[in-house]
Amino acid sequence: MKKIFLFLIFLISMFMTWGTPAMAAETQCIVTDMKWTSRNDGDPPFVRIVLDLSRSVKAEAAIDNSGKNFQVVLKNTTKKENIAHQYDMDSRAIDFATLSENDRNIYLDIALTKPQKISDIRVFALRPDAKAKKPHRLVVDIPIIGAKRTYYKQTPQTKKSSLQQSITAKTSTTGATKNASNKSVIIDITTPVSDYVISDRAKKALQGKVICIDPGHGGTDSGAIGHLNGQEIYEKNLTLAIAKPLRELLTRAGAKVVMTRNSDKDVFGPYAEDIPELQARCDIANEAHANAFVSIHIDAVANPDVDGCTAYYYVGSDSSLVLAHMLHNAIISRISNYKDRGVRGNDFYVNAHTEMPSVLMELGYITNENRLRWLTSKGAPQKIAISLYEGFVDYFAD
Ligand SMILES: [Zn+2]
Repeated sequence: MKKIFLFLIFLISMFMTWGTPAMAAETQCIVTDMKWTSRNDGDPPFVRIVLDLSRSVKAEAAIDNSGKNFQVVLKNTTKKENIAHQYDMDSRAIDFATLSENDRNIYLDIALTKPQKISDIRVFALRPDAKAKKPHRLVVDIPIIGAKRTYYKQTPQTKKSSLQQSITAKTSTTGATKNASNKSVIIDITTPVSDYVISDRAKKALQGKVICIDPGHGGTDSGAIGHLNGQEIYEKNLTLAIAKPLRELLTRAGAKVVMTRNSDKDVFGPYAEDIPELQARCDIANEAHANAFVSIHIDAVANPDVDGCTAYYYVGSDSSLVLAHMLHNAIISRISNYKDRGVRGNDFYVNAHTEMPSVLMELGYITNENRLRWLTSKGAPQKIAISLYEGFVDYFAD
């Protein structure tokens, strides 16, 4: 159903015509695909909607006076028949969106969860990219009001600490944090889990299963930075310290474990943009045809009192939700000091672009001093690894 914009308070007109105007008037543009994703690499995070187009087009955007109904009109445009009409998107920003055709125009109607200003919504065109095999595109970025950037990039507090670090340590021109190993604490990962007994139930459940473990960040990307006793502690070291004993336990139970990284390195390459770096991790899991994927992270937030464990799953995947519950329950029930921050739906890149049950675990806050002291204490990463391992056993046993 087409929304009627009775009160257009603002109207922008975008000319995306790079060919000759005469040509543009003749050929009708075709919307060949529509995709959306939640992105955490902006401040605030945003929902990005991308329309693939057969050629350049003239588009207009408008918002009604409630600020909750946003519309983009693509003039002289039709769409492929197999493109869905209605989309449920990230409910933090968008209730739903529809793509409809009327009178030789295409209407993208976006029902916003909260009122927005049209000046905060970005609508822009992308030219075809032959190398990446991308056609003409129309992009709409909707801010997720009130959301905090916690995953891809560092929070303001940790940003400040990278800045401080850049004065004393090596820096790169891209602004990424270079590992200042002389200042950071390397987590002791030598505490073995070899004495942990693998049950028959575990062997039965995990035999032959392929599990991909993604230790978050690595190499030139330190992840969030914590401070303890005047030293900096990097998220990337904590995530690897958890991933390694987890790999050992799963392997001993008969699973085949694929790691996105085994050491302190970038997966795609040094100082890579977020998307290629994260896609490289997804590729490893997808190419291994993994039966399950877990990305391990430590959270960060400006408020130092905040702590707890959150399991994120990709909205729309029931098996991911089940896996998230299993891993989350295993942590909360086995490690008494973890505050429960719930199992939450999200669209983190690594979960949205992996083709198997896929979960991202935020295992406490690096910005909480008590948590950080515990995470860096002997045996703590192993304790987390054992809990996650038992979560996988529960998942595959059922
Ligand atoms: Zn992280």
